[in-house]
Amino acid sequence: MSDDKPKRAWNFNAGPAGLPLPALERAQRELLDFEGTGMSIMEHSHRGKAYEGVHREAIALLRELLGVPDDYHVLFLQGGASHQFAMVPLNLLPAGKSADYIVTGGWSEKAVEEAKRIGTARVAATTVVDKKFARVPKQSELQLDGDAAYVHMTSNNTLFGTQFHEFPDTGKVPLVADMSSDFLWRKVDVSKFGLIYAGAQKNIGPSGVTVATHAANDSLYNTPPTFGIYLVRNVLAYTKEIGGLAEIERRNRAKADKLYGAIDAKPDFFRAPVEKASRSTMNIVFRLPSEELEKRFLAEATKKRMIGLAGHRSTGGIRVSAYNAVSIEAIDVLVSFMNDFAAQA
Ligand code: PMP
Repeated sequence: MSDDKPKRAWNFNAGPAGLPLPALERAQRELLDFEGTGMSIMEHSHRGKAYEGVHREAIALLRELLGVPDDYHVLFLQGGASHQFAMVPLNLLPAGKSADYIVTGGWSEKAVEEAKRIGTARVAATTVVDKKFARVPKQSELQLDGDAAYVHMTSNNTLFGTQFHEFPDTGKVPLVADMSSDFLWRKVDVSKFGLIYAGAQKNIGPSGVTVATHAANDSLYNTPPTFGIYLVRNVLAYTKEIGGLAEIERRNRAKADKLYGAIDAKPDFFRAPVEKASRSTMNIVFRLPSEELEKRFLAEATKKRMIGLAGHRSTGGIRVSAYNAVSIEAIDVLVSFMNDFAAQA
């Protein structure tokens, strides 16, 4: 690394999270003068040619990477994933109908609460025990209403570190998924979903952009978050360059295997609260023998420029968010620190 390069942290933040360095460097190069126009992309009209090109490219890349079928629309929206907690029932839950919610963590609890303000929503399954969620439910545990307007699920539970590895079968009822913390971690069969939405700030860009894949109009109704979408474009272009979602999935699985491997290798020291079958590849959570040791672990990690490792304030413990931009090298650095810490403690 040359001296004029910034010293980058090992960023394990849960979101906003790290972005691929090449995507940021591209933004840096283009910041003051986007493609010879003498303006930043932020300063262009959202109806102008320059921005429109970026917008269309971001949508085309997303369609290509994820394999979005032609009869689905890709929208870039504002307001974060939480905004969709209300927008989903406002758009999809007509009077006289009820919606099913699969509750697997804090975010799905919020989603169902919001839906209940707007219409009739019922909990079709929950895995809560003592305010904690250690797993996602099996298909046989879902009490689905065959007449529901939709079934809502959270594909990856950012706080508790659980993830659906197979999606529920909801028959004819449209499946709506909040994929905020595992969108684009691998390819999924979009045609199984009526709607997928995700805050961009974990796997695909900065906060301020929400992606939605569903049937609707376009996302140029009003002024979109242009700079955020431009950065999403940069991240997607880089993702394509390195081999698309197949390569992203390979890296993510390798990262998760290394981390769970390190946890499982020392069961007297590291404790994983999540059931194996529900383990998340994105948010890897574990506990140390005492809170005192957890505090020391976090303090020593910070000194080594490893940041964002504290568990969510509602759960405590350690949480490693290993989103797409987290390199295998970063995980190697962390695993070696975990092993050293366990040996010394
Ligand atoms: N859903 C999930 C699964 C999340 O992880 C988050 C954010 N951590 C949200 C929803 C809320 O996202 P936002 O802050 O964009 O509203």
